[in-house]
Amino acid sequence: MTPHLTPDPAQGAAVKAADRAHVFHSWSAQGLIDPLAVAGAEGSYFWDYEGNRYLDFTSGLVFTNIGYQHPEVVRAIQEQAARMTTFAPAFAVEARSEAARLIASHTPGDLDKIFFTNGGAEAVENAVRMARLHTGRHKVLAAYRSYHGATNTAINLTGDPRRWASDNGSSGTVHFWAPFLYRSAFYSATQEEECARALQHLEDTIVFEGPAGVAAIVLETVPGTAGIMTPPPGYLQGVRELCDRYGIVFVLDEVMAGFGRTGKWFAAEHDDVVPDLMTFAKGVNSGYVPLGGVAISGAIAETFEKRAFPGGLTYSGHPLACAAAVATIRVMEEEKVVENAAHIGASVIGPGLRDLAERHPSIGEVRGTGMFWALELVRNRETREPLVPYNATGADAAPMAAFGAACKKNGLWPFINMNRIHVVPPCNVTEAEAKEGLAALDEALAVADEHTA
Ligand code: PMP
Repeated sequence: MTPHLTPDPAQGAAVKAADRAHVFHSWSAQGLIDPLAVAGAEGSYFWDYEGNRYLDFTSGLVFTNIGYQHPEVVRAIQEQAARMTTFAPAFAVEARSEAARLIASHTPGDLDKIFFTNGGAEAVENAVRMARLHTGRHKVLAAYRSYHGATNTAINLTGDPRRWASDNGSSGTVHFWAPFLYRSAFYSATQEEECARALQHLEDTIVFEGPAGVAAIVLETVPGTAGIMTPPPGYLQGVRELCDRYGIVFVLDEVMAGFGRTGKWFAAEHDDVVPDLMTFAKGVNSGYVPLGGVAISGAIAETFEKRAFPGGLTYSGHPLACAAAVATIRVMEEEKVVENAAHIGASVIGPGLRDLAERHPSIGEVRGTGMFWALELVRNRETREPLVPYNATGADAAPMAAFGAACKKNGLWPFINMNRIHVVPPCNVTEAEAKEGLAALDEALAVADEHTA
């Protein structure tokens, strides 16, 4: 065992005690959680102080697209820290300008100006602000079954239960149903039907809200947190056309789907769609230092050529975060990380998950692409009743908790969301690691199968 893997339970207990005493955790009832004390991480693995090692099929929170502690990125951060750790955003700084240049070299179409933020929610906030200023309109349309972040505008756009507590109905946000054949809001039988009906529903929503008041449509290119639901062919092109017809700014949120996750640099490439604004974060630098941003089209950038953009952040384009982005993008180019995500997704993960579905009655649907997959667990394949109720907690969520515990016993750290398993390993996962994860899932799924009827 390498020294950094040597168990040290006493240190682990001290870390845990300080955490429990002083750290206030996201999305949690503070008294009901039991966070694992993590001792270290490398590549696709992390380990605790007890000597347990886990294969991370969550990529952190779907951000370590090149795994943990990539030496090139760690070195770039160290070099930037030695040279210029920080500098105010109003100056031209090499790490920042190079990060913007590299990002723009990969974004689709003319999304060539980059506004930097510290993460995804701030990117969404600023994209909406740009859209409102550009159009002079206020309303924003966003999808149910979406997640856009936890700040005020971003959480109001979010179409999942996390919005409920903070939504006072005054945000100018209108929700609509996006396509998702397995649990169709339109009772469609085919992808073609789902696509056509979802587009008609969206147009009706625009017309009934009053097109002259609609500033933006905000969509995740592939909704991630809500279940990794690749839209049917033609849908995003159809939304693009609706935006053009009604003068609405099209915002694609690629915070989770971008930077290789779907087997392309950006998920919009699968559909050959260019939005007016595109948000990113997470994979831009594998989450090594907080960074996000908005990629801005020529037309919207033009709005702010002679007129000031009334927004900014102290740490916009922080040199350390940008140096990490430069190194990450170079690693992704040189090590063909995006190609790896596409290849391992198509040759190992996809076929492996479909094979599991043949043997495990709890799997209702397998869907995804690249390193972005979901298993929808059900009590009954015919009725599609979810294995646990929507938004279940406590005893109601127990079958998924039992499944999660079985994964961890087998050395796999799974991403569990409601009745779904999101299979989202790093984009540079190896074939052997992917197979190891699939084998652990296979064993743990037996636990979920016990709850089918
Ligand atoms: N948009 C999407 C699509 C996301 O997945 C997330 C985070 N999961 C966010 C926005 C918010 O990003 P952050 O947590 O960095 O604010």
